[in-house]
Formats: sequence, structure tokens, C-alpha cells
Amino acid sequence: MTSIKLAPGATIGIIGGGQLGKMMAQSALRMGYKVAVLDPSADAPASATGHTFINAEFGDLESLKSLCEMSDVVTYEFENIDARILHTLVGDYHVPQGAETVLTLQNRETEKEAISASGAKIVPYEKVASAEDVRRFMDAHGAPVIVKTATGGYDGKGQYLLETAADIDRAGIPFDETAFVAEKYISLEREVSLTIARSVSGQVIYFPLQENLHKDQVLYRTIVPSRVDYTEKAQEEAAKIMDALHFVGAFTIEFFIDTDGTLYVNEIAPRPHNSGHYSIEACNISQFDAHILSILDHPMPKVHLHQNAVMMNLLGEDLDRLDNELFTHPDWHIHIYGKPARKPARKMGHVTVLTGNLENTLDALSRDFTKET
Ligand code: ADP
Ligand code: MG
Repeated sequence: MTSIKLAPGATIGIIGGGQLGKMMAQSALRMGYKVAVLDPSADAPASATGHTFINAEFGDLESLKSLCEMSDVVTYEFENIDARILHTLVGDYHVPQGAETVLTLQNRETEKEAISASGAKIVPYEKVASAEDVRRFMDAHGAPVIVKTATGGYDGKGQYLLETAADIDRAGIPFDETAFVAEKYISLEREVSLTIARSVSGQVIYFPLQENLHKDQVLYRTIVPSRVDYTEKAQEEAAKIMDALHFVGAFTIEFFIDTDGTLYVNEIAPRPHNSGHYSIEACNISQFDAHILSILDHPMPKVHLHQNAVMMNLLGEDLDRLDNELFTHPDWHIHIYGKPARKPARKMGHVTVLTGNLENTLDALSRDFTKET
């Protein structure tokens, strides 16, 4: 990809106007760029953030072309763009991230093949098209097994945890509707993630290793730096993956650490990631700034963590409880995305707390925001 160093005043087109698109747009605006956003929802979080908003479906090629026509460079927060459309856009416009990597990562099967071929370690998996296939996989690798849709899954959606062979039929997995991958369900000690930005001409910066806590398979909290030191190992795995797949922009590698201490690559998000949100306040450069700088091929600083941080997602059910208490901790950084409809499990915002005492902060978040106790 050719490097086109655009000066402020140029327009950045963003496919997708959710919270990630909004935070990308905010970084771009601060640097003096104009922003155009396309999203199917008329009142998407980023619908009023940029200079131009196009309300259209992600499958609407003509509208995507309009976005590209008015933009000097195009990026995306939405990674499930149709392959044919993406190839057209990449062929005709300046889309520094290209099509190949995002298309490989759109599908869990090709994603796992690519990661495995890079030499990075992943948990045993296999493509499955029937209950019989799953039974064979469970016989070979032992229970439990988790079956995931190959495409379109996020936040644990489209996943079936099978504790025993009896669960295989009981789960009612719709094999005739879509493709699935079976994976050995491992006993997790921790989950960590590594956010990286790579510029068009190849500068790479690493954010500190993040520790992620999930609830019902949805990210709940991120603690930075991770309380276990796997930075070197994670960066080694990342280097193998970067040799095999071409990245431009900010991306995040999710890892599992099992109870034996083995580090496995779980999946890769070829865009800014929820577990990197803390970087807005806790680092000298945020993942969103880094994303914008990388696609524009401007130099980036080495990442420095100003202070340890905890990020907690605010779901609809949290906001129902917190409406009158959101701003009771003036030193906490509240982000509310401005999504039109509040739903119990929908990510509506997040809060980042910079901390000198992790235990106290985790307690305060539980006491005042989660009401866990
Ligand atoms: P998504 O695309 O929904 O983020 P993931 O594959 O990352 O899907 O799964 C979501 C979460 O479910 C993981 O972060 C982890 O907590 C749990 N999980 C997924 N696969 C496994 C596995 N093989 N072993 C143990 N836990 C898993
Ligand atoms: Mg995940």
C-alpha cells in the first residue's frame, strides 16, 4: 500500500458509526481532519460526530462509494464488510488496511488457519458441520467443547458450550444454517490482550498487556497492566502473526492463559478493541489516535502508560441503576456512547479509572457501580 501522508483538512471516511467509529472520529477531529461516517442506524453514536453522515446499510455499495468519493482515506470500525464490496472499495479508493487481512479474520476457520500457520499457538479446533463431527472432536480432545459460528459472532453470541456428549444434541446447533468451528474448552487462568498499531510504512507500537475479565462471555473489566507478566511471550506471538498477516492500523490480539500457564492466541480484532479503551486517559497515545496516525502513515511515539488503570464496561443494565450516580466520582472518566436504545446487555459506555491502588479501585467499582456485594 502506498503511503499518502494527508495533512489536516483532508477527509477520513469511517465505515461504521458505533462507539469505535465515534472514538476514531474524535481522534481524527482533534488532529484537524474532517470526518465522514456511514452507518445503517440513523442515530448511531457517531452520526453527529463528523462533518458528514451517510445513513446506509453496510451492503449498499453505491452509498459506500459515495463515502469513499468524499474521503481522502477510508477506514472501518465494522469488520464484517462483504468481501466483494471490500475488494471493490480497496481497488478503487485509498483504503490503507486493504482487504486480505480483514477477510481472513472475518471467518473463525480461516482466522485459526492463518494464526496456526504463522506458528503462534492456538487451542485445538476443527470445522464441524454436524453433531457427529462434534462428537468425533469431543472423543479426540475430551470435554468440554465450545462450538462457535464461523462468521458474525461477537460478545459470545453464536457460541454453544458443551459440557458432556449429551449436550451435543440438546444444544440444537443449527448446522444447516451456517458454518461452525469446534474448539477445546480450556480451563482458563486468565485472559489477556495485546493492542498494537502498525503504520502503512511498518512502524509498530505495542500497548501494555491488558488483563481482561469476562462475564457471560462479554468483556466486563480490563486491568492494565496485566497482573501476570506475559508481555514478552505475547509480543513474540504477535511478531509471528505480523509476519504472516499484513496489518495497518490499530488491532488487538486476544489470548487465553490456561491453568498450566500456556499462552494461546484466541482471536484477533483488526480494528480498535474494547480492551484498549483505557488508553484514552491512561497512555500518552490512545489506540484511536494510533489508528488514525497509522492509516495516515504519520510517526507514532513509543507507548507510555501514565498510570495503572481499570476500564469497566457500562451495559444497559448498569445504566438503569446508575442514572443518578454516574458522576459521583469526578476523578473517574465516564464515556457514554449515545446509543439510541438501551438494552440490558448492550455496551452503552465505559468508565476508566486511573489508580495507584488496584484493589481499592476494584472494590469501589464493585461497590458503587456494579453493586456486586
Ligand atoms: P467473541 O468473538 O464473542 O469475543 P471469543 O472466542 O473471544 O468470542 O469468546 C468469548 C469468550 O468466551 C472468551 O473471551 C472466553 O472468556 C470464553 N471462551 C471462548 N472460547 C473458549 C475456550 N476455548 N476455552 C475457554 N473459554 C473460552
Ligand atoms: Mg473475543
